[in-house]
Amino acid sequence: MYFIFEIAFDSNKQYIAELIRAYATQKEMKVEVLQTTNKIILTFNKDDEQLESFLLSLDEILPASLFLGKGKHFFSDENPSVESIEKTNLPLNIAPCPTCQKEMFDVSSRRYYYPFTSCNHCGTQHPFLTKYPYKRANTTMKFLVPCTDCEDEAKNNSLRKDYPLISCIECGIAIRMLDKENEHLALNKGDFRKLFEVSGRAIASGKTVLMKTAHGYRKFFNPNRNSVSMRTLSFSLTPSEKNLNIKPSRKINTTVESTALSTLLVVSAAGFNEHLMMVEQEFNALLSIERPLLRVATKSDEIQRLYGSSALVKYPDDGMTMLLAREVISAGLSYIAYFECDANEEADFLVDFDMPINPQKDTKLFINQDTKFFVSGERIVYPAQVQSNKNRVSVAHDLACVKVDDKSIIDSLEIFDSVDTQEIYVLESDDFESGHSKEYRFESYKASMMSVLSEHYKVGQKAVGVHFDGTLNFLYYNGKAVINAIPPIPFESDNLWEKISTLRDGSDRLVGNYKKKYPLIWERLDNLGGDMDIFEVTAITLGLEDESFEGISAEALSFLGKGGLQIDTKVKDNRFDNYAFLTSIMSYQLGDVENNFMCYSIYESFGDYIGEIIPQLLEKVDTKVVVLSGATFANQSLYGRIQRTLGQFSPLMNKNFPIGKENVVHGALYL
Ligand SMILES: [Zn+2]
Ligand SMILES: [Zn+2]
Repeated sequence: MYFIFEIAFDSNKQYIAELIRAYATQKEMKVEVLQTTNKIILTFNKDDEQLESFLLSLDEILPASLFLGKGKHFFSDENPSVESIEKTNLPLNIAPCPTCQKEMFDVSSRRYYYPFTSCNHCGTQHPFLTKYPYKRANTTMKFLVPCTDCEDEAKNNSLRKDYPLISCIECGIAIRMLDKENEHLALNKGDFRKLFEVSGRAIASGKTVLMKTAHGYRKFFNPNRNSVSMRTLSFSLTPSEKNLNIKPSRKINTTVESTALSTLLVVSAAGFNEHLMMVEQEFNALLSIERPLLRVATKSDEIQRLYGSSALVKYPDDGMTMLLAREVISAGLSYIAYFECDANEEADFLVDFDMPINPQKDTKLFINQDTKFFVSGERIVYPAQVQSNKNRVSVAHDLACVKVDDKSIIDSLEIFDSVDTQEIYVLESDDFESGHSKEYRFESYKASMMSVLSEHYKVGQKAVGVHFDGTLNFLYYNGKAVINAIPPIPFESDNLWEKISTLRDGSDRLVGNYKKKYPLIWERLDNLGGDMDIFEVTAITLGLEDESFEGISAEALSFLGKGGLQIDTKVKDNRFDNYAFLTSIMSYQLGDVENNFMCYSIYESFGDYIGEIIPQLLEKVDTKVVVLSGATFANQSLYGRIQRTLGQFSPLMNKNFPIGKENVVHGALYL
C-alpha cells in the first residue's frame, strides 16, 4: 500500500522536485519523486513511521513558488507509473530558498550576510555562467577555490551535493563599499553585516546607493527623502502637461516625476498591506521564490503621491537586495525604490564586487484572478530546455535556441559557442548575421503564434490568432504556415495632422479645435518622427507621463467605473484604422473626458473589436482553436473584455514562455 501526495506544478522547471529529492536523501526518507507536465508526485510507503514528520518539515524547507498549486493525498495499491519529464542541468536565477535564507541570517553560519548564499535549488547561478555545460569551470567563479568547509559540504550536504557554485565568506566573492573618499572592503562576517547596515541607513537618510546585484546595477533610494537629483531619464515631461486635466496626484515636480518610473521595492509584508491594493494571488506571486515584477494598484496617499494609481512592484529578489532590505527595515522603512542602471551612475555610495556577471532582463508577470502569465523578460523563464527534432538554431532578441549535447537549450546568445547546424532562423529585425548558407529570416507574429500552439500541442492543427504587440494583427494558421489574415492599415506617425484632417468630412474642423484647446500637444504631434507606435502617440496625446503602452495601461488601472466609451477602431474591410482611432480619442478629449476613463475605454474597444472579428474568422476557416499572443494583452481591461467576448472559445496563450517578444526564439523552432 502506498501513500501518494500530489502537488500541482504548472511548469517544467525542476528545482522544487529536486529540492524534495535532496531533502529526502538528507532525512533518509524513502520516497519516489516524479514530475509530469503539471504535477509533482511523491510516493511513500504507507507504513513509514517518519511519514508525518517528513511531510511537516517539508513545509518548512519548500519555498513558495509561482508554479505550485494545490496538493492532495490518497492511498493506492499501485505505484503510479507515469512518464517523468526529462532531467535538465540548467543554472537558476531566483531568490534564495528558505534553508539558504536561514543561513544568511544565522550569525553562527559561514554565510552570515553572505549575498551569494545558494544551493542546487535556488539563488544566483545563471549570472555567473559563461558557457555550457553548467559546471564551475564554465563560470566566472572558476578562479575561486572552495575552502575545506565548502569542499566538505559539496560531499556531505545533500542540498549542496556537487554544487558547482559552492562558496562562503571564507572562500567566496568579496564585496566593497565606496563613497567619495573611502573604500571599505568586507572580509569577514562583521564587515559584511556592517556594509549592508551602513547602506540601509544611508538610504533611509536620503542618500543614494548604487549597488551591483545579481540582476545588474541598481540605484536604491528613499523616494520620500531624495533631495539629491535623480537619475536623468531619457524622457522629458512635455510643456503640454499644463494644458491638461491632470489629477493632483499626477501634478509632478522634477524629482517625483522620475520616481514614478522607478520600481517600488517593498521590504516587509506590512508595507504591502499598508500601501498597496492587492488580491491574494498578487501577494503570493510577489513573495514567490521567483520574485517577478508586478504592476499593482496603489492604496496609501503616500504611495499614490509618488506613483499615481499603480506601481511596478518587487520584493527583494537576490542576496544583495535582500540583505539591503533587511537593514532598510532596521532603519525603520517598509519600502524604498530603485532604478536599473549601469556602473557609471552617479550615487553617494557604491557597493560593488569584482566578479563579472551576466544579468538577465527581469520578468514581468500578469495576474487576472486565477490566470497568470509572463509578459516579458528573460529571468525565471530562461534558460529553458525544449523539445525539438530539427537540426535548427533560432536567434531573436539576444536569445538563441541551440543544441548542447543533443538537448535544445534556449539562453542568451553570448553563452553559446559556435555550433554546427543544418539551418538557422533569425528574426527579421535582428542585426545578427550568421554567415550560414541556410539562414532564414522570420516574422515575429508567426513565431509567437507557433510558440503558443506548441505549448498546447496544437502544431499541425488549424487555428486563428490575434497578435497584439503595439500593432494588431489577425492571423490564420492552416496547419502549415501562419498567414496575416487582416493586417492593420500601416501607421506612420509623421505628418499626423494632414492624415487626420483628410480622414472624413469635418475632420479638419476637429484639427482646428484641437489646436486651439491644446496648442502645445498640437505642436508636439506636428513634429513627430515616423517611427512611433500608436500607443506612444496616444500617450502623448493624453499628456501621460509614461509615453508608452505601459503608461496607458497604468492609467486605465485607476478607472474603477463600469462601461466605457465607444472608441472608433475599424473602417472598411474590418481593418484597424489607427488614424480613426486617434481622431476618436481627440474628440472625446475635446469633450473633457477624464484620462483614466479614456484609457480604460481604449482597451475595452480593442476587446470588442477583437471579439467581433475572431468569431467571423473561426467560421470562415472552420476551427475552434484561438491563439492570443503579444505583450499588449497584459492589460486588465483588455484581458477582462477578451474573457467576456471570447471566453467561450478558451483562447490559448503561452504558459512557460512570455506572451511578449521573448517567445519568438521558441516559436521559430516550429516554423
Ligand atoms: Zn537554497
Ligand atoms: Zn567556503
